[in-house]
Amino acid sequence: MENEISGKTRLAGLYALPARHSFSPIMHTTAFQATGVDAVYLSFDVQTERLGESIQAIRDLEMLGVNLSMPHKMAAINYVDELSQAARLIGAINTIVNQDGKLIGHITDGIGCMKSLKQNGIEIIGKRMTILGAGGAATAIITQAAIDGVKAIDVFNIKDDFYQKIEPKLAIIAEETNCQIQLHDLADEQQLSDSLSASSLLVNGTSIGMAPNTDQMPLPDATLLRKDLPVFDVIYHPGETKLLKAAKAIGATAVNGLGMLLFQGAASFELWTGKEMPVDQIQPLLENELKK
Ligand code: NDP
Repeated sequence: MENEISGKTRLAGLYALPARHSFSPIMHTTAFQATGVDAVYLSFDVQTERLGESIQAIRDLEMLGVNLSMPHKMAAINYVDELSQAARLIGAINTIVNQDGKLIGHITDGIGCMKSLKQNGIEIIGKRMTILGAGGAATAIITQAAIDGVKAIDVFNIKDDFYQKIEPKLAIIAEETNCQIQLHDLADEQQLSDSLSASSLLVNGTSIGMAPNTDQMPLPDATLLRKDLPVFDVIYHPGETKLLKAAKAIGATAVNGLGMLLFQGAASFELWTGKEMPVDQIQPLLENELKK
């Protein structure tokens, strides 16, 4: 069904800098049309010093809400009225929902990952997982996994300044969710080997292996992989990283980050409209966009 723009058409959008390269407008506008929601979704380049006014505009223009991407995910929490549990724990949001002028901040990246795991038949609730990296995408996954009931998470990051900063944050997430979360040095190969032996899932949450550096792998050694250890990579460009190729080669389940991207969008869509995004229809559109 093609929607026609009318006086009642509502607006949603993306606030980022730059925002124009995003897949979100095609994803959400197609979903609005498919589900009969009278709304459109546009991308806006929002300057950092105008973020507060741009968020106030969500109220003034009675927008459905917005998505936020770099560099606004953390600063935006200062301008909303309420935060979801995950958003509060992480200190970042990627979605604002306008509830009659009250703005609620959510982060849906972790939800996207958990849904993608489920879609691929990977059961991790009540089990242990290992994640490489503790940046934005990784922290969102760690937090949602802990909220959803993953029993233990071994986090590996390079021992830089950031390592010291993330440690107390992970401790707070662990305490509030009752998940055992341990931070380790990515260079500690023995610990990595021990953690993987006890894990039911390996997640790459780093950007290692992302185009153009497709010959890189976040693991020191592919022999750490096993057939019964599913591997999830946050990277979706390329569609198959060196890590995923190595996992696939030994018969392990290997999942890229496209599903995470799709389902984080689906979660935002549901928060704005109360409707399920027709993901089967949207997934090929994303795949096509990535080929461009
Ligand atoms: P961040 O910069 O926040 O985090 C990057 C992480 O990778 C950090 O833990 C960083 O460690 C680590 N890292 C980077 N380079 C190296 C290296 N050479 N050696 C060891 N560790 C390294 O980025 P994001 O979390 O936003 O993005 C990470 C990846 O996730 C990107 O590829 C991005 O495209 C993808 N992504 C996918 C999404 C999806 O929906 N599928 C959503 C969001 C992101 P440190 O900070 O200590 O340097």
